[in-house]
Amino acid sequence: MSRFRVSCLGLLLVSAPALFGWGREGHRLIAEIASRQLNAKARAEVQKLLDGQSLESIASWADEVRPQRRETSTWHFIDLPLDIPRGDWKKFCPQTGCVVGQIPEMESRLRNKNLAQRDRAEALKFLVHLVSDMHQPLHVGEKHDRGGNDVKVLYFGKPSNLHSTWDSSILEMAEQKDANLKAALGRKPGFFERRRLAKGSLVDWAWQSRDVSRDVVYANLPEARPAPLGDEYFNKALPPTELQLRRAGVRLARILNEALGQ
Ligand SMILES: [Zn+2]
Repeated sequence: MSRFRVSCLGLLLVSAPALFGWGREGHRLIAEIASRQLNAKARAEVQKLLDGQSLESIASWADEVRPQRRETSTWHFIDLPLDIPRGDWKKFCPQTGCVVGQIPEMESRLRNKNLAQRDRAEALKFLVHLVSDMHQPLHVGEKHDRGGNDVKVLYFGKPSNLHSTWDSSILEMAEQKDANLKAALGRKPGFFERRRLAKGSLVDWAWQSRDVSRDVVYANLPEARPAPLGDEYFNKALPPTELQLRRAGVRLARILNEALGQ
């Protein structure tokens, strides 16, 4: 596909324009939330597959190999229209693959002990990354603007675009306002919170992310272009952003415990 989405959920924490700077931190954060919830068996399997590397350290690998692995570039998102009821997602998945199709594919490779360790390790790396990406609402909600890349905004007066704002500026601003935010996000959720957030299917989670795109990202967007985004937009965007990060971590842990921890 000709369209591109340079940045991913991990870049939520980015201080632009560093594609691999803070972006690593965003994916790390989700991997860290997940890592704390792995059971002993899954943890041991992960360690073995990654040769002792941590989940956090490989969380951005899929973005790093994207330029060389062109066939993987559409795996990082899906375009679900904002204005249709939840339903069949497959017609929105190109032949080259999409995030909703690739996650189960990688999960099944990870489970398959007949595959070479190297292939299973690669599947694990994709899985960690793609579950994160699917929780970035602009990697899922489609409004014919290349995931918000074409929507010019002024974020607190600074020229940017909507995609980049969601990748980077919102949490960057949040961190400036609250130095403890990252620690709070990285803490292990309680049992009931985990159970609540981990509910549902992969497809439910994709539509939920689409809904966040519709109900938060675009619903609160001023009509003027560039769209002036300030405190009002930020305050509405932050809680759902934090929730998406937390959901991604909890759900990734569920997937890994099911695939490796039983
Ligand atoms: Zn990505």
